[in-house]
Amino acid sequence: EAKHAGGNLARFYTHAMNDAVRERVNIEAGLRQAVARGELALHFQPKMRLGDSSLMGCEALLRWRDAEGRQIPPDRFIPVAESCGLIVPIGQWVADAALDQMLAWRSAGLKVPRVAINVSAIQLAQPGFAPLLLDALARRGLPNSLLELEVTESVFLHPEGAALEALRMLRSRGVRLALDDFGTGYSSLAYLGVQAFDTLKIDRSFVATADAPGQARSAAILRAMVAMATAFGMDVVAEGIERDAQRDALWRLGCESGQGYLFGAPMPAADFEARCLSARPPSGASLRVVKG
Ligand code: C2E
Ligand code: MG
Ligand code: MG
Ligand code: MG
Repeated sequence: EAKHAGGNLARFYTHAMNDAVRERVNIEAGLRQAVARGELALHFQPKMRLGDSSLMGCEALLRWRDAEGRQIPPDRFIPVAESCGLIVPIGQWVADAALDQMLAWRSAGLKVPRVAINVSAIQLAQPGFAPLLLDALARRGLPNSLLELEVTESVFLHPEGAALEALRMLRSRGVRLALDDFGTGYSSLAYLGVQAFDTLKIDRSFVATADAPGQARSAAILRAMVAMATAFGMDVVAEGIERDAQRDALWRLGCESGQGYLFGAPMPAADFEARCLSARPPSGASLRVVKG
């Protein structure tokens, strides 16, 4: 009887494992074709200043609709892409697509916002990553400071240190660096002493309880994170703001900017353009100001 149950359990685990392995294999096979088949797209999510609700920039987020038309979330395919090396060509596609979009906005006479892309430590550690990215910016005539790289603290776990070297080179040339998902990993504070960042993105798990009544501890944590970021001269962006009350609570705690469904979910470029980007005044307009 017990043996029988154990046998079932073993079979259950085998089935579960087979499913996980099969899903991985399927994702990997599909991803191999994704770039060539044009199945990837970028969506853009606004980052807002909480004080006056003005646009501070945006984050480009990768979307994949596979050959069968299914939308696969990045949390499912990015880890697979990282483990099989496909993150390198896919990350390259993301960077090129983001820079091309910025160029398109500029050509359309729109004020180009700062665009952040998510970059994996594996990409950063590739030989030539930094010079190639700088070249991609230069070829398009885009200022380096219009690009921000969002990295998680996994860059600090990368053994060779090549990822950090790439970050240092890019930052010395004016590309902005953001530390993503802050507060979710280990020893994040120590890492801030190792590498300078321009922006600290507070993970949405902290934002979720920012407006809950009687959350003295979570408020204290948020206030401490904001104070620390400010001491380091970093901008603070709170991720995952969904409610007015969260925005208000964060503002009271000293957080100056945020991102989340309250301001807009990630959206196709055309929607972002229509909702968030304003046309530039015709060139020379500012010279027409009559001086007294
Ligand atoms: P992330 O960089 O921390 O991106 C923020 C995630 O939070 C996005 O999920 C976004 O859609 C979601 N989000 C934004 N506002 C809200 C909100 O108010 N409420 C909630 N519940 N969620 C919100 P998404 O697009 O599914 O991406 C998940 C993760 O996948 C990203 O987390 C990032 O780590 C990774 N990722 C996405 N695109 C890329 C990429 O191009 N390259 C790499 N390496 N990773 C990427
Ligand atoms: Mg991000
Ligand atoms: Mg994040
Ligand atoms: Mg994340």
